[in-house]
Amino acid sequence: MLFAIINSEKVEASPKISGACPLCKKNVFSKCGEINVWHWAHHKDVSCDSWYEPETEWHKNWKLAFGKYNCEIVISKDGVRHIADILTNDNVVIELQNSPIPKPIVRRRENFYGDGMLWVINGKHFKNNFFISSLDSTKDYWNSKYIHTPEGIVNKTTGEIVYVPKNNFTFIWNWPRKSWTDVQRNLFIDFGDENLFWVTEGMGTNNGKGILISKEIFLNKYGGNTDFSKVFIDKKEKRITNVQH
Ligand SMILES: [Zn+2]
Repeated sequence: MLFAIINSEKVEASPKISGACPLCKKNVFSKCGEINVWHWAHHKDVSCDSWYEPETEWHKNWKLAFGKYNCEIVISKDGVRHIADILTNDNVVIELQNSPIPKPIVRRRENFYGDGMLWVINGKHFKNNFFISSLDSTKDYWNSKYIHTPEGIVNKTTGEIVYVPKNNFTFIWNWPRKSWTDVQRNLFIDFGDENLFWVTEGMGTNNGKGILISKEIFLNKYGGNTDFSKVFIDKKEKRITNVQH
């Protein structure tokens, strides 16, 4: 958890303070080490939410892009309560998933949050096994006269966009995370670059289809702060250049 309740306010963890868990109301204490993201923990480190994942920098960036009043929101349904990672002003739940997840949990989370949810999963751990290719050939533009940008291929000298790739990709995924095969909600993979890969077919299998969506567009659509798209982007990651032709 990034936020605990202190005097009815959501407060980020800072060294040596305690607060209340928004879900179970029990005391939580701040954990502010040098390695892990500063967060709040229950005593004995047992979270009251069975769907809880350890807080990472990746979670933190996504949550803070939506701001403290739209992240870590307690949702109650039929007497059961869970903390949604992000709840947008339009009531879309965005669930963040960093680690592998068992198939039954995928189903339960989707049932609990209903149709108005989507997944953003961290693809960094399997990006080397995940190959995106376009049926669209851009081979004429793979030389130093051109640069490849999300808007298209640009002639470096004139600044002119010479080619706009069609946004339809296929993927091959070696050792896929099979627990995602029955996913029912829209799912976006974050490989750490400026785009999300929206899987439209074949999630959790060896091959399928998808569309690239820039994080900026995604954040705009769901009410996130687009300034944060810069925080997410690891300059070393250039997924778009992994496109095979
Ligand atoms: Zn709790």
